[in-house]
Amino acid sequence: MWSASQTNAEMIHRLGSEGVIVSSAVARAMRSVDRRNYCIEGDLSPYDDAPSHIGFGATISAPHMHARCLEAFVQHATRGDARILDVGSGSGYLSVVFGRMNTDASVFGLDLIPELVEQSIANVKRADKDLLESGKLRLLVGDGWTGLPHEGPFDVIHVGAAAASVPRSLLAQLKIGGRAILPVGPEGQVQQLIMIDRVSGGPPEDAKAFITTPLLAVQYVPLVASEK
Ligand code: SAH
Repeated sequence: MWSASQTNAEMIHRLGSEGVIVSSAVARAMRSVDRRNYCIEGDLSPYDDAPSHIGFGATISAPHMHARCLEAFVQHATRGDARILDVGSGSGYLSVVFGRMNTDASVFGLDLIPELVEQSIANVKRADKDLLESGKLRLLVGDGWTGLPHEGPFDVIHVGAAAASVPRSLLAQLKIGGRAILPVGPEGQVQQLIMIDRVSGGPPEDAKAFITTPLLAVQYVPLVASEK
């Protein structure tokens, strides 16, 4: 799976020839965001198809993981007034790509670590600061177990850290017709990336309101449990 690229364009091209990127919307959006700006300074291989440490115990996910999630979200994320929540936004990369995929969307990146949110804002300011200035992208400090109840409901909820169980409050913030993708499973072990579609109203406990589809085995950093 791992592959090396020298440029952002080459990285996108490879993901295309590997069949990971299939839609022009995803290709165009990822091409317009330079992944180097979201890696730490001194990262010698920002275009390799591998995760990379960004400090504070976090990693920017591998490009193929971002691409797979974006492909699964393409219909939902490109709706006219899509509201998009990216939990565990880390580097800010994926939030920005969502913003590029749909200039009319409202994108919220949420991360627990204030220093990381600060760093992600600095990353965005390198070449994508128009998204912050227009207010279309907001990068906020907050807890993924709570989400952003006042900004929902969302068409898209992406979670970039693994929870032992699906956070109920996030399900409650999913629009009817909305889609969530999140890794679920024990810390440090193989987890399952799952896709959840909300097909009707009703409480998060109502199994009939949600359709869950397992996507693939993954290993993500844990979605840290909030302190009560
Ligand atoms: N999608 C990001 C992934 C970053 S790693 C990227 O590609 O850059 C996962 C992130 O989840 C870390 O930044 C970590 O701080 C964050 N995180 C962990 N627990 C969290 C929680 N309870 N609420 C919000 N963010 C959390």
